[in-house]
Amino acid sequence: MTGSARRLEYLRAIGVDVWVRRDLERDAGRVTRDALENSSEPAQQAVPVSGVSDRVTCPVSRVPSETSDVVTHHASRVTSAASMDWPALENAVKSCTLCDLHRTRTQTVFGVGDKQAQWMIIGEAPGADEDAQGEPFVGRAGQLLNSMLKAIGLQREQVFIANVMKCRPPQNRDPTPAEAACCKPYLQRQIELVNPKLILCVGRIAAQNLLETDTPIGKLRGQVHRLGQAQRPVVVTYHPAYLLRSPGEKRRAWEDLVLAMATMSAIRP
Ligand code: URA
Repeated sequence: MTGSARRLEYLRAIGVDVWVRRDLERDAGRVTRDALENSSEPAQQAVPVSGVSDRVTCPVSRVPSETSDVVTHHASRVTSAASMDWPALENAVKSCTLCDLHRTRTQTVFGVGDKQAQWMIIGEAPGADEDAQGEPFVGRAGQLLNSMLKAIGLQREQVFIANVMKCRPPQNRDPTPAEAACCKPYLQRQIELVNPKLILCVGRIAAQNLLETDTPIGKLRGQVHRLGQAQRPVVVTYHPAYLLRSPGEKRRAWEDLVLAMATMSAIRP
């Protein structure tokens, strides 16, 4: 099967109808270009985003068994994440009790994939399947994410996948800003260690936390954001779980993936 046929197959698998001329159908690159040129979304537009300020503080003082020593201990663990290597960071996440989510988790969900990946995928938080298996995006939404990645020529193993939250919020509720603040140093360090060329952020919660904004996802997608000092490109798209509920939005998600691919192509030498 040619690359273009495979891409078309995956696009159909994720439910995107691709209208291409038969002669173009044999050329994956042209299919991509076609979709990009026909996109109704605005083309690439840089929006500076700092991604470094701490607007919400992790509520270490809410740890019930606290003494001032415990509080100091927690606070120093947060700050030290910035200098941790992979094993130290994984251990810190595994034993984290900074917020109350540790009480209801089965296990933490650190992240998975190529630690030197060019693409990093950032989601919201573990759900029931992820909490049980200890790996992000292994449920139905994960299967759709895998198909979305395949549609842009990537295997799951070629990217690094992490969540804003390392523990499952009960009943999959939205994480509170304070809970997200506790997890933030872990994700920031993961981004630094992977040093991806591009971040694909899936879903409103992931995007708003990463970009530190309350802007609705409909306005965040369709453009390239810049994160932190490195001015790392971030493309936002809909969460696969949302796409399962609203398949009509898959066309827009595909446009976001095309934007991400185009952005990545422009970065590569
Ligand atoms: N949704 C997410 O955002 N992350 C997961 O790991 C699973 C579902």
